[in-house]
Amino acid sequence: MGNRNAPGAMEVNTISDYEAMVIGAHPDDTDISSAGTSALWAQQGKKIVWVCMTDGTEGSEIPHLADTDLMLTREQEQRMACDTLGVQSVEFLRFPDGALVNNQSTRKAVVRLIRKYRPRIVITHDPTTHLYAPDPDEAPKQRAYLNHPDHRATGQIVFDALFPGAVNPRAYRDLLVEELYPHQVHELYLFFSDQENTFIDISETIALKVKSIQCHVSQLDPEGEWPEWIKERAAAKAKEAKEKKGLTMQYAEAFRRIKLHAPN
Ligand SMILES: [Zn+2]
Repeated sequence: MGNRNAPGAMEVNTISDYEAMVIGAHPDDTDISSAGTSALWAQQGKKIVWVCMTDGTEGSEIPHLADTDLMLTREQEQRMACDTLGVQSVEFLRFPDGALVNNQSTRKAVVRLIRKYRPRIVITHDPTTHLYAPDPDEAPKQRAYLNHPDHRATGQIVFDALFPGAVNPRAYRDLLVEELYPHQVHELYLFFSDQENTFIDISETIALKVKSIQCHVSQLDPEGEWPEWIKERAAAKAKEAKEKKGLTMQYAEAFRRIKLHAPN
C-alpha cells in the first residue's frame, strides 16, 4: 500500500453499514455454520447479509434434474431461511457449483459486495481446512469428511477480496464509477476451522437455526436425524467453550476470529 497522506490519496472507509456479511459456497453452508449467530445478531437489531457463491446445481443425487430448476429451488429455500432468521439481505453470485475457482472474476464479485454492504465482520469458510478426520483408533465408529473444494475456494477468494481488493483504491478502479469505494472490514470469522478461538452463545436461537436448515427441503431427508445432529454439534461446541474459555452456554457456534483493523 502507498502513502495514505499523498496528495489525491483516497481515504479508505472504516465505518460499517452492515454488522456482518456471511459468505458460503452453497445454499445451506451459511445455515449450518452461522445461522444461530446471524439470528442472534439480527434480534439485536444488527443488519446481516448472506452471500452464496455458487448456483448450487450439484446439490442433488438426481442426474437428469434441470440445472435452472434446481438453482431456483435452492435460492428460494435460502430466501425462506433468511426470512426465518431475520437476515435482511441475500445475494446469489451463481458461479458454477463444483467448479469454483479463485480468479479475477470471482474476487471482483466479492469485492463489489463488500464495498456495497460495508460489513464490519465477514464470516466465511476456513480455506486451510482440507478434512475433518478423527483418529480411527480413538473414534472407530466415526468417518472422516473431505472438505468440499468450493468451500476452500470460497475462503481463498474472500481472503484475496479483503486484501488487497476491497481496501486498495487502485484495485478495481472501475468500481469507483459506481460509487463502490474502498472499505476496511474490521474482523474476519472463519467457520469449519480447526483453530476456533471464539464461541457465540446460540442457546436462544438454536430453534431458529434448526428451522432455517429445515427450509432446505431439496437437501434434506425430512425423516432424517439431522435436527438432533445440529443440536449435538452445537452442544459439543458449547462444551469446548467451557474447556477453552471458561464460558457457560448450552449451544454454541464456533469460529476462528481474526482482527483485521485496529483503530488508533
Ligand atoms: Zn457447501
